[in-house]
Amino acid sequence: MKKIKLFFLRYSGQTRLMWYFTKEEWLLAESTRAFAQEQLAPQIEHLDETESFNTQAFQALGELGLLGITVPEDDGGAGLGAVAATLVMEELAAVDASTTLSYLAHSILCANQIGANANPEQKKKFLPDLISGKKIGGMGMSEPGAGSDALGMITRADRRLDGTYLINGSKTWITNGPNGDLFYCYAKTGPGRKDVSTFVIEKSMPGFSTGKKFKKMGMRASPTGELWFSDVVVPESHRIGTEGSSIKAMMKNLDIERITISGISLGIARSCIETATRYARERKQFGVPIGSFQQIQERLTEASAWYEACRALTYQAAKTWDLGLMTGKEASMMAAKAKLQSAQMATQVALDAIQILGGYGYTREFPVERQMRDAKLIEIGAGTNEVLRLIIARQMLGDVADELMPS
Ligand SMILES: Cc1cc2nc3c(=O)[nH]c(=O)nc-3n(C[C@H](O)[C@H](O)[C@H](O)COP(=O)(O)OP(=O)(O)OC[C@H]3O[C@@H](n4cnc5c(N)ncnc54)[C@H](O)[C@@H]3O)c2cc1C
Repeated sequence: MKKIKLFFLRYSGQTRLMWYFTKEEWLLAESTRAFAQEQLAPQIEHLDETESFNTQAFQALGELGLLGITVPEDDGGAGLGAVAATLVMEELAAVDASTTLSYLAHSILCANQIGANANPEQKKKFLPDLISGKKIGGMGMSEPGAGSDALGMITRADRRLDGTYLINGSKTWITNGPNGDLFYCYAKTGPGRKDVSTFVIEKSMPGFSTGKKFKKMGMRASPTGELWFSDVVVPESHRIGTEGSSIKAMMKNLDIERITISGISLGIARSCIETATRYARERKQFGVPIGSFQQIQERLTEASAWYEACRALTYQAAKTWDLGLMTGKEASMMAAKAKLQSAQMATQVALDAIQILGGYGYTREFPVERQMRDAKLIEIGAGTNEVLRLIIARQMLGDVADELMPS
């Protein structure tokens, strides 16, 4: 009989058999866990307090080869899939969710998209610096008047007689906006909602500027800000794909974003469960550990069961993505379900952890206060809970629900 190597996830006094990962994926998870403890844990409280970015850790992620995790090996990346990327997100986010969010914007929203959609010359030009960490990447889709309704964007790229484009408009809420060097940006090249094209914008381009850095409730070590375009001249060689045909690639990227960002929710939740379980064993009231009270047990057990359900759903979505077993609206629905549940789960689990820790939970003595602030973002970014429900309803109900959200 063939000998199978088994992998285990150990948390909160429990051991889970991780039968669905390859050896490569699980070793990656273990080395990422060690990296997060060494490079992220000592910094995160200070970075959260001062709202600053962990440049050093980002460079180290480049040295580990994780910045181009899903970029094909032929293009200089690690050539791994959504399962591996989600595992990395989970392990990093268990320690520091906000650096993980910046890592996601760089690796999944920018480098992955260039690897998937650019031509060979463009890949040669843009990918090496992104993969090494010399340049930080981001993605510009959302605008002040176009969030959930992304196709309502009004930033325009007008083609000129010499073949270059003139871009005018603005983007907002852009992760790595204030600290990024290169942005994968969408703009309208025609009058229709679907006339969307993609351009790689470099920070040094005349007329391009980044606006103020937002002060946020959570994800504070991940800089978020605006991008401004004022008569930015962009050569045709910076346009990714053919003109006006970016919608499909944009939507496909939202799917892998929703799967991998669910890894951030999983990491936050697991860490909160571990903190709360330890505390429930140690903290005594009325002469006994608070973990002996049934109301505390209820919170812990529900949290653990919900986390594991979301974990199964998320890695199922990731594996399905990697195998290419689902496409189009089916794939979008699966990604939407994983994120809808994982994001809500993480917020609730973090709130429950705070409650279990009582007064200490409400202070910065323990990480659960920060983790609750970080968890909430994932119910908003990459598609709000409401928009994800619309995507699921559209697939379940067909025409009946289609009218709810113009595509
Ligand atoms: C920290 C952070 C980082 C981000 N990073 C990026 C990034 O890197 N790149 C990028 O392009 N964008 C980014 N975003 C933008 C993010 O994707 C948007 O915030 C999100 O899509 C929601 O858009 P909005 O904020 O404009 O809210 P709105 O669309 O104005 O929604 C407001 C409320 O109305 C609800 N709503 C809207 N439409 C419907 C509907 N049809 N039915 C029911 N309810 C509805 C929403 O669910 C929400 O509750 C980021 C956002 C944040 C906060």
